[in-house]
Amino acid sequence: MTSLIKPRARKVRILATIGPASSSPEMIRKLSEAGADAFRINMSHGERSEKAAQIAAIRALEDEGRPSTILVDLQGPKLRVGNFEGGSAVLQPGKNFGLDRSGELGNSERVELPHPELFQAVGAGDRLLIDDGKIRLRVTSASAEHIETIVEVGGKVSDHKGVNVPDVLVPIPALTEKDRADLAFALEQKVDWIALSFVQRPEDVAEARELIGDKASLLAKIEKPAAIERLDAIVELADAVMVARGDLGVELPPEGVPPMQNRIVATARQHGKPVVVATQMLESMITSPTPTRAEVSDVATAIYDGADAVMLSAESAAGDYPCEAVDMMNRIAISAESDPIYPARVHFTSTPAEPTTADALSTSSKHIAQIVSAKAMVCYTSSGSTARRVARERPTVPILVMTASKTVARRLGLQWGVHAVHTRDVTNFEEMVGKARRMALRHQIAGAGDRLVIMAGVPFGVSGSTNVLHVVKVTGDELETYTGPAEA
Ligand code: PGA
Ligand code: MN
Repeated sequence: MTSLIKPRARKVRILATIGPASSSPEMIRKLSEAGADAFRINMSHGERSEKAAQIAAIRALEDEGRPSTILVDLQGPKLRVGNFEGGSAVLQPGKNFGLDRSGELGNSERVELPHPELFQAVGAGDRLLIDDGKIRLRVTSASAEHIETIVEVGGKVSDHKGVNVPDVLVPIPALTEKDRADLAFALEQKVDWIALSFVQRPEDVAEARELIGDKASLLAKIEKPAAIERLDAIVELADAVMVARGDLGVELPPEGVPPMQNRIVATARQHGKPVVVATQMLESMITSPTPTRAEVSDVATAIYDGADAVMLSAESAAGDYPCEAVDMMNRIAISAESDPIYPARVHFTSTPAEPTTADALSTSSKHIAQIVSAKAMVCYTSSGSTARRVARERPTVPILVMTASKTVARRLGLQWGVHAVHTRDVTNFEEMVGKARRMALRHQIAGAGDRLVIMAGVPFGVSGSTNVLHVVKVTGDELETYTGPAEA
């Protein structure tokens, strides 16, 4: 028998980005112990060989029995300016500034823009934002070779700074050459999730899905206003979404981001797909062991809104206090979720049942668990779908998910409230009840005298067959009397 895996004392998941400050196996283990449920590997920085070592270190955590969850984040078609004489130039407000296709080094009057597609796409009046929006240019005219702008907000621009074009749907593919190579690497490494950056249209998600097939789940990062216009269709096609507030906050005015965050979280929850709230959550902890009060409030707000996961970026990847940042998120989550108002707050977003057996049973099991004060819901699933529909109900008790698929157990790591266990399929009703009781005891989710609400499908092990809802009591001696094969 493997060792005991204690469930987290919270429902929201913590997604921690791995980077120079956290890439050693020791640090990865410490982050997991501090509360990181899933790890993000950002392909925008670093070498593939380092990533392979990080992936191996994350998978090694499974020796203790908890499924590990790895998300590889593709850089996507991030637009950048070319290089400058001396590495940078200062742009003066009110002056003209040109962007062109000449490979010559730039200066305070012009620079190369190595993205031919853009020249046809922008028109007079559109904004070009450079370096996370610090510099603002307004297009006065555009041709196939040259974009002329007027500098509205000036400043220093250095080599290769990012360009955002919030006013246009950029006619470029969702995956660059680099993304395709990174994707092939990620699939070869058998990671669980692929994150797609700068999604603009549902077709972008469909294109990535075409390449990925069922080899990984697909998360669409919502960081372009164009994506928000097609949000429903994008969420429909993706397996999860991220509120990517970094780039979203460049493309929208800052005050425009919170309403979008609310909309994205609510839409994803209605679809029953995980939603991750990301970027600058505990930003000051990059250099400080304690966060600001406003940051703590921001994390708590995402949790009260019922987000599935909260994310750390530079805080865990490149900061001075990666473990402290994870620990802080863990503490904020436990505090918010134990607030007596939390259950009402999290149900502020309504997620009405769809007319399916799985939803009817999920809704009912939530109510039954409340009425009989059950300690947990136990959910047998082969595709993960039942677990997602149960989690969509945001029940007050933990969801102990039993699956015979290691892949499914891993992919459930971004899912609110789920404690996944990879275990052999049950073959009959007695086994279903016996295993639910034993696992609840072993994982310290329930004790003697506690009730469990079990959901499963007959025939057992067949996807889409959910049709059993059963209430049982744990006696406490299930582990002593069990003589079957070893279980996870
Ligand atoms: P990034 O995505 O960190 O890859 O830019 C997240 C965001 O833009 O918020
Ligand atoms: Mn981004």
